[in-house]
Amino acid sequence: MSRALAALTACLLATTVVAATPATLSTELPSTWQLNEMFADPAAWEAERQAIAAALPGLAKLKGTLGQSPAALRKVLDTESDLRRRLAKLGSYAGLLADEDMRATDNQARRQLARNLSNDLQETAAFIDVEVIALGKTKLAAFLKREPALAKYRYPLENTLRLAPHTLSQREEALLAAASKPLDAAQTTYGTLANADIPWPTVQIRGKDVLLDQAGYVAHRDDQDPAVRKLVFETFWSVFKTYERTFGSTYVGNLQATVFNAKARQHTSSLSAALAPFNTPESVYRTLVAEANAGLPTLHRYFKLSKRVLGVPTLQYSDMYVPLAKPPRSYTLTEGAQLMLDALQPMGSDYLADLSRAVQSPWTHATVQRGKRSGAYMNGSVYDLHPYVLMSFNGSYDSVSTYAHEWGHGMHTILANRAQPYPTARYSLLVAEIPSTAHELLLADHAIRLAKTREEKIFALSQAIDQLRGTFFRQTMFAEFELATHEAIERGEALTGEKLSQLYLNLLRRYHGHDAGVMEIDARYGREWAYIPHFYNDFYVFQYATSISAAAYFAEGIGRGDSAVRTQFVKMLEAGGSNDPYLIVKAAGLDLATPAPYRALIKRMDGLLDQLEAVLNSPV
Ligand SMILES: [Zn+2]
Repeated sequence: MSRALAALTACLLATTVVAATPATLSTELPSTWQLNEMFADPAAWEAERQAIAAALPGLAKLKGTLGQSPAALRKVLDTESDLRRRLAKLGSYAGLLADEDMRATDNQARRQLARNLSNDLQETAAFIDVEVIALGKTKLAAFLKREPALAKYRYPLENTLRLAPHTLSQREEALLAAASKPLDAAQTTYGTLANADIPWPTVQIRGKDVLLDQAGYVAHRDDQDPAVRKLVFETFWSVFKTYERTFGSTYVGNLQATVFNAKARQHTSSLSAALAPFNTPESVYRTLVAEANAGLPTLHRYFKLSKRVLGVPTLQYSDMYVPLAKPPRSYTLTEGAQLMLDALQPMGSDYLADLSRAVQSPWTHATVQRGKRSGAYMNGSVYDLHPYVLMSFNGSYDSVSTYAHEWGHGMHTILANRAQPYPTARYSLLVAEIPSTAHELLLADHAIRLAKTREEKIFALSQAIDQLRGTFFRQTMFAEFELATHEAIERGEALTGEKLSQLYLNLLRRYHGHDAGVMEIDARYGREWAYIPHFYNDFYVFQYATSISAAAYFAEGIGRGDSAVRTQFVKMLEAGGSNDPYLIVKAAGLDLATPAPYRALIKRMDGLLDQLEAVLNSPV
């Protein structure tokens, strides 16, 4: 009842906002969040932590009872679900507070306590999957029929049964769990080497000493002076030569661990193992790779136009990150939020009402401050309240885009939590990055419409195009590299750092049109694979590429006012985690295993390139 009442209040508030001034922000937005609505103070948090810890033995006592009756199953699931929900809030409070200032040790300690408790719950609840599998399909179906209150657990339960062939005996599971630490060593070693141990070089840029570690590289790789960026690239990537063998052995160690786990769990391949938890068909992955390759002429067209704008004799890999135009302006947080709301007008009044209420509430931590966690995220774990967004808003267009991105996740959470019960509210990554990137694309389209001068138009268009390069082509290139390396290990081939660099160089040259003279790729850039930490999170990044493709499809339909596409988009968000993510997207009218989404993306990119070309061809 309280939820229904809360929803009604939200609705009334929202209506007032929209009726008075359609999604116009009249006052400065709050730039920090208020966490005391979760817990009044640290003492209240500590009391809840102790209460959850004290409740764990109650769950442990239910071990062995799950299959006794539908009521017994319900009791186990309700108990676990309630504990997880409370723990998610406990962990979120600790995590958000800790990220505000990573230097505050009492906040870090609180986060650690929440993590420990989460591990305890994980261990205590381990019997549930084992007993659900023992229950079997027929008996579970009968239980679901007899006890209507179990309906909200149907999808997670059926998912557990689907994965049963890959769940081993208790003894074997314990062995695998124990082996996970040594199997993770390769990744830990990689992290230490890449982030702490490498002695990074210093270069002189316009008379100043600049340390070229990863942060220094990112800060200076887009320098306006071609000679400076060439120096930055050559110096930075030469370091990787010294460590090529060691990086090779850490990455191969990671590949072997992944292949071992896949085999141990009786998956046909490591790709199939990675896709199994969410039942995503392998054809999604393979179609993405094939279609990105088919779309390479469009990427090369972008590089040819870049070369023209930059006026360089040969386009080099070191020219990749230079902006084609200067940003025309900066934004306050309120102006940025207003730009986002204006851009999202095609989403309709209900959606906008929720979003404008969200941005006007103290749910975002946007201030730039010392000790704050870098990057940006949305935390949607507090089911009973609302999403939280963390970012450092610096006034750039990029910041506005990040803000729109994170609030795409935020809207997903708001809609899913409202429509779904707790056990099926949480959505998975295959669908999660669709609304966030759809927000970014609609923002980009709006920024292009607003651009007046030639410089503004080149800026807005090149931002929009580069987003597709970075999220679609680059991530798919990574996905192709991962597929090739895993398959090589599965075939029993010996990979070394040098071979990995050759493999990566071939991909880099193909994607960037080296042989066709589009962009020159020096052989030393083949070592870039060693710089990408995501490769230690196997078969993960492809979902950024599938998502931006789906977003291109939805943004196109929504942007031209197709209310059917808009309705399907909202329904997709409301579906939360109530089904396989692939099927949720399919139900919204888009099959990720077919070329359609990827061609929608290429079409978008070609359309933007047409516009950029027209601007470049028009008299100044
Ligand atoms: Zn995201």
